[in-house]
This record gives sequence, C-alpha cells and structure tokens, in this order.
Amino acid sequence: MDKVLVSACLMGRRVRYDGGAKTVDDDILARWRAERRLVVFCPEVAGGLPVPRPPAEIEAAAGARAVLDGRAAIRTPAGDDVTASFVAGARAAVATARAHGARVAVLKESSPSCGLHRVYDGGFSGGTVEGPGVTARLLLDAGVAVFTEAELAAADAHLRGLEP
Ligand code: SF4
Repeated sequence: MDKVLVSACLMGRRVRYDGGAKTVDDDILARWRAERRLVVFCPEVAGGLPVPRPPAEIEAAAGARAVLDGRAAIRTPAGDDVTASFVAGARAAVATARAHGARVAVLKESSPSCGLHRVYDGGFSGGTVEGPGVTARLLLDAGVAVFTEAELAAADAHLRGLEP
C-alpha cells in the first residue's frame, strides 16, 4: 500500500517554530492513518532546528530554486542564516520519501520548507509570494506528487490512481 509523506505539524506534532501544531482533523487523514500509510515528517526538525525556534523566511522573495542553488538564503528576523538546516531537512524529506516508497506528499502551505503554492515573502509581515518552499521543491524534483492540507481529496484521488 502506497505511503504518504505528511507534514508533522498537520498531524498534531508540536514542531512549528512557535512550539505549536497546525492539526488538521479530516476523514481522509484518519483513513490513511488507519491504513498505516502515513510517514509523518518535519523537515526543519530533521534538519537540526530546535522547537521552538525563530521564524524564518526565504529572503527577498527569491524562491526555493535560488536557495537550493546557493543564490539566496533563508533567514530569521535577526538576519541569521539558517539555509543549511532548511536544505538538509529538504534532502532528508526526499530520502525519507524514497525509503518508504512514498509517491505522494501532503505539506503545510506557506512554510518556507513545506509551502507549495505560496511561501512567506521574506518581510516577516505575513505577505506571501508564489511558492514552493525548499522541501516541496526537492520533492517535486524527485517526482513526488505534492498537495497541501487544503487538497486532501485531490491527494486521495491521485493516490488511488497510483494503485492497481
Ligand atoms: Fe510543519 Fe513543515 Fe514547518 Fe515542520 S517544516 S513545522 S512539518 S510546516
């Protein structure tokens, strides 16, 4: 049975920068859990960042590709460069998806790691720009179908389409 990589904060794990979660209570997630499909993963924790931690955003709306190519950084409001941890976490997400044979991921929208369609713009004022974040970018590059927490029905339909 195909596995699904899912952002840990969506499953109630208190791994966000502020020490909280973004729990999604949804029948599809509950069914996937019962089917033992879920691979619960937080890229930022896997990359070595603590909980809690300062927020961080991709600088100057540069985009995940620029970060992964070394042309832009992910920084905290104080200007600290946390790029290496974010990239390490993204690579760990790809390795984990491969290890479990996961071809589908459901990730938390807007995060500089997990965001898909939107990410915060680097201004720490709540503004966003088109995504993805660095983990979503590397998973897409690896051929994983990525969905947000608002797209669970589409993710489920895609998953069914993969299975005989
Ligand atoms: Fe959630 Fe992803 Fe941020 Fe971890 S890196 S707290 S899984 S959005």
